[in-house]
Amino acid sequence: MIIQHDLHSHSLASDGTLAPGALLRAAHGAGVHVLALTDHDTTEGLAEAEQCATELGVQLVPGVEISVTWQAQTIHVLGLGIDRGSAALQKGLRELREFRNWRAGEIGLRLARAGIGGALEGARVFSSGSIVSRTHFARFLVEQGHAGSMREVFKRFLVHNKPGHVPGEWAALEDALGWIRAAGGMAVIAHPARYGMTSSKLRRMIGEFRDAGGLGMEVVSGSHNRDNVTAMAALCRNERLLASCGSDYHGPENCWIRLGELPPLPAGCTPVWESEHWPLQ
Ligand code: AMP
Ligand code: MN
Ligand code: MN
Ligand code: MN
Repeated sequence: MIIQHDLHSHSLASDGTLAPGALLRAAHGAGVHVLALTDHDTTEGLAEAEQCATELGVQLVPGVEISVTWQAQTIHVLGLGIDRGSAALQKGLRELREFRNWRAGEIGLRLARAGIGGALEGARVFSSGSIVSRTHFARFLVEQGHAGSMREVFKRFLVHNKPGHVPGEWAALEDALGWIRAAGGMAVIAHPARYGMTSSKLRRMIGEFRDAGGLGMEVVSGSHNRDNVTAMAALCRNERLLASCGSDYHGPENCWIRLGELPPLPAGCTPVWESEHWPLQ
């Protein structure tokens, strides 16, 4: 039997739309055997997810997706198989959430200056966890008719040079990897093809990631097209990293991304779960 892994997903604890329990039920229904819950900068969904996973017989990989600034660019690093009780990890995540809170207020002020009032309160309506994400602002802006789609709303309001953009620094790469190591997890670069880096820059980033103890990269991802998968598989093999696969599921509203509906990892890639370093044997 092929064991179906989906090692990247979100719940209401960050910017997903399903509660952790509902996410686990959806994964079970979709035939996923091993699911990683990897909320942005928080582990608060994991307790409910663990309980539900046990009831359903799904293997839960406790995870987190950490926001990192590397060379003035935001990248995301997954920690898979983390111990959520790790004090070092929780201290780091708390600092990121403090930055997020400050940033959310700032986004609200900037949107108000651009003529859109009440955005922070509006975004909070969509956020039930301890973080406010740009996704929550985007949902508010779409609801208010400022754009027709999530994609459009990001492009018009929430990215560089747009009214709701706030510059700032997330975690340093080394720090994020230190927290993941302290929590006994495996660090994996999330959706590497999405950063728009040249291949030499991507290799430089991978070099620093590896020097800091990083072991894997996502080859198959909900945000990689077929060409991205081919390119990332070659990079993964050449750089001798382990390969991961995850949908980056945020909920049923994004109907083009389904839980567990992932192509297999290309030949020659060693899956993270076959490595001796995989934290959940
Ligand atoms: P944040 O971490 O608060 O800056 O928000 C980043 C999140 O916004 C990502 O995790 C995605 O879920 C979402 N996101 C980023 N870019 C887009 C986009 N172009 N369209 C839809 N969602 C996006
Ligand atoms: Mn997200
Ligand atoms: Mn991400
Ligand atoms: Mn994600």
